[in-house]
Amino acid sequence: MYIVHGTWYKEKIMYDVIVIGSGPGGYVAAIRAAQLGMKTAIVEKYSTLGGTCLNVGCIPSKALLDSSEHYHNAAHTFKTHGINLSSLKVDLKQMIGRKDDVVKQNVDGIQYLMKKNKIDVHHGLGSFVDKNTVKVTKEDGSSENIEGKNIIIATGSKPSTLPFIKLDKKRVITSTEALNLKEIPKHMIVIGGGVIGMELGSVYGRMGAKVSVVEYMDSLIPTMDKTMGKELQKSLKKLGFEFYLKHKVVEVENKGKEVIVKAENAKGETIELKGDYVLVSIGRRPYTDGLNAEAAGVKITDRGQVEVDEHLRTNVPNIYAIGDVVKGVMLAHKAEEEGTFVAEVIAGQKPHINYLLIPGVVYTWPEVAAVGYTEEQLKEKGIKYKAGKFPFMASGRARASMDTDGLVKVLADAETDEILGVHMIGPRTADMIAEAVVAMEFRASAEDIARMSHAHPTYTEAFKEACLAATDNRALHI
Ligand SMILES: Cc1cc2nc3c(=O)[nH]c(=O)nc-3n(C[C@H](O)[C@H](O)[C@H](O)COP(=O)(O)OP(=O)(O)OC[C@H]3O[C@@H](n4cnc5c(N)ncnc54)[C@H](O)[C@@H]3O)c2cc1C
Repeated sequence: MYIVHGTWYKEKIMYDVIVIGSGPGGYVAAIRAAQLGMKTAIVEKYSTLGGTCLNVGCIPSKALLDSSEHYHNAAHTFKTHGINLSSLKVDLKQMIGRKDDVVKQNVDGIQYLMKKNKIDVHHGLGSFVDKNTVKVTKEDGSSENIEGKNIIIATGSKPSTLPFIKLDKKRVITSTEALNLKEIPKHMIVIGGGVIGMELGSVYGRMGAKVSVVEYMDSLIPTMDKTMGKELQKSLKKLGFEFYLKHKVVEVENKGKEVIVKAENAKGETIELKGDYVLVSIGRRPYTDGLNAEAAGVKITDRGQVEVDEHLRTNVPNIYAIGDVVKGVMLAHKAEEEGTFVAEVIAGQKPHINYLLIPGVVYTWPEVAAVGYTEEQLKEKGIKYKAGKFPFMASGRARASMDTDGLVKVLADAETDEILGVHMIGPRTADMIAEAVVAMEFRASAEDIARMSHAHPTYTEAFKEACLAATDNRALHI
């Protein structure tokens, strides 16, 4: 007799698929594998499912972004709308509590989906014993071995830091702690001008914190089209953000309630910033701690990623890896696509992922969203293109909602007019980018979109207008 997950079996269970990690990559892989008729188990070291995204990433950050945006509007724009409020104040405890409720609803939802799809959930640290065996060590130290024909590594990522920065997680913090602060910082110094820093900086900036951003590169959100970084900087400046671009942080001194950040500019001069919180948001590192990948012979690259081929298969044929722990952008929907992909590969299907068409979104206000090539990439590749732009200032819908910052930029092939890249900064672009993804997936030309009716008044008209601008410069409303 064998005991697995509290149940006695006459014969040892051989799972078709064991997934290690229950983030958006792992839980989607498990669901798809189960849908395809495979006996599936998922291993998660924490007590809740959903990984970084649901517990300390996408979902809680968006909950706080929404709450803080409501407050900001109540404090700054309601009056213009003719709504007067008195004694407006933030109840941070309530705000964080609501965020926790949202997280709970989502992680409970994943638990339900596991049950619905008859996926065995094993809570504990998963570590390889050999290429077919995973040891699950629970919090109380007890362990059990489970066996699988195929194993999917979906262990995700953790925040990175710089070697000389000591994260005390109280004053010198990562995104995880920034989602649970007990007070609104007076002065939050954000190290790193990427997506996470700008989102969480916005949360506290909207509620009155002074936010200073120190970024090594010459623009914010540096992996996106340069226009987006410039426009975002303009909008965040209006919110009171201060920027120190092309500055390299050289020292972080933690004096308890005060933290001092020293950074060097391009001329070698040192600036000194004093704040009460420092958010270190310089990126994330792939996470394989405790996985014991060596026991299965799985190769890890010098960058700490699990090495995979184009089928997301590791060097060990029955072991796959997906999501943040492998190469590529660290995004939840990329991990999800890979989860589905691998389950289908294991089932003998021939799935496909078009990595160029994985959209990227920054949930600041205005939101930034993009898909396809940036203008800089097209130049580098020597692809001839034409660009069409349309500012939200010229959109009736945006004027009605007082959200006139930003623009839509469409890049289309100079000869064929095929859309090669779409970059948006403005209201609700996070949702609007889906149209651009569909268009590019079906290889639409700018004129195709320009000739389609877009409901009036909507923000989406800005995409149509930018397509018109890219097609012989014939935007109608500017
Ligand atoms: C603040 C923040 C905001 C974000 N916002 C967005 C956003 O808006 N949109 C977006 O697309 N992306 C966002 N991301 C990124 C997104 O969270 C990740 O890309 C996504 O979670 C990656 O999914 P994953 O399945 O690869 O790994 P993860 O979500 O990191 O999940 C990995 C899981 O594996 C578990 N695990 C690790 N090792 C073991 C082991 N040995 N045994 C058992 N379990 C193990 C971990 O506990 C974890 O639960 C955000 C990230 C952060 C930090």
